[in-house]
Amino acid sequence: MSDKITRFLAEHRPPTPCLVVDLDIVADNYRRLRDLLPHARIFYAVKANPAAEILSLLNREESSFDAASAREIDQCLAAGAPPARISFGNTIKKQSDIAAAYEQGVRLFAFDSAAELEKLAAAAPGAAVFCRIIMAATGADWPQSRKFGCEVAMARDLLISARDRGLDPYGVSFHVGSQQRDLSQWDIAIGKTAMLFTALNEAGIELGAVNLGGGFPARYRPQVPSLEASVEAITKAMTRHFGNSLPEMILEPGRGIAGDAGVIGAEVVLISRKSYDDERRWVYLDIGRFGGLAEVMDECIEYRIRTPRDGGPEGPVILAGPTCDEVDILYERADYRLPLALEVGDRIEILSTGAYTATYASVGFNGFAPPREFYI
Ligand SMILES: *Cc1c(COP(=O)(O)O)cnc(C)c1O
Repeated sequence: MSDKITRFLAEHRPPTPCLVVDLDIVADNYRRLRDLLPHARIFYAVKANPAAEILSLLNREESSFDAASAREIDQCLAAGAPPARISFGNTIKKQSDIAAAYEQGVRLFAFDSAAELEKLAAAAPGAAVFCRIIMAATGADWPQSRKFGCEVAMARDLLISARDRGLDPYGVSFHVGSQQRDLSQWDIAIGKTAMLFTALNEAGIELGAVNLGGGFPARYRPQVPSLEASVEAITKAMTRHFGNSLPEMILEPGRGIAGDAGVIGAEVVLISRKSYDDERRWVYLDIGRFGGLAEVMDECIEYRIRTPRDGGPEGPVILAGPTCDEVDILYERADYRLPLALEVGDRIEILSTGAYTATYASVGFNGFAPPREFYI
């Protein structure tokens, strides 16, 4: 947790639950990636955290943006991003939203199906398009393995069809899976992509770019490879599969930019046991899945938790949210332990919660408002 956030929480004691994001860390994460891969174009995945403060900061750094909806495009434009630096990267779009984006000047779109290509040809004539290929997403804590992308053979035909319909077959995209911890996945994805480049070359199409998506991990409980190690895996795979004819590279980091920049402040509402001989305490917080911690689904993402009583003896806990819904349990199987001295009313911190939290909050399920957000 950054000194700046520690100080802010101590001095302001904002009502909980709250999300505090250190914008210096967002900028650092962006610049580190840019400096490690100076020739790549970085499209920040807006869905990770679309706060105006983050979008403006990244826009000042001349970042590009990967938007998933008409609203996200509006948010990027409002932050000052020129349409040439916005890609409409969702493969599932209404034709009316494609038309609106095109009208606003957006010229880069993703697709993974014949039906989506129809819409693009009709509503975004001449635009540059990426075809997304499907990945197994092995090794990712938050996989993207079924819903998006198509097999390489289909992608080949779709990109040829894109050209025949007057679109610009610009490149191939993939996503190795979010919070990707297995570096070998990059080689598999880039290898598939290179095959597709060759197949299209034979069909007379010279693709321009590889869109490597996101996947760069944030720091949760399990160990993760460093950004340097991920970048090295990418660079090696690019050289191995493309040799000297390296295409342009596009990255779409979300979690890797915003994740470690945020901390959620929360309060312990209740500590209880279900029976006299139950060793495990139930610890209920004032934030749960409906307050934005949706990525605890299946206990996929294991956040690090800090309490004011850390350092003393600990015991096993089940962590849960405050709503009257049985599914609002955060961690039951992941073997969390918290200090035995923890008390009702204690303020705790949930670390690396800058991405995929605030916008996941329900608008007010059970009367609980979404966490307040502070960008400092
Ligand atoms: C969600 C998403 C990203 C961001 O992924 P992270 O793992 O958060 O970096 C990038 N590209 C696309 C197309 C996405 O849907």
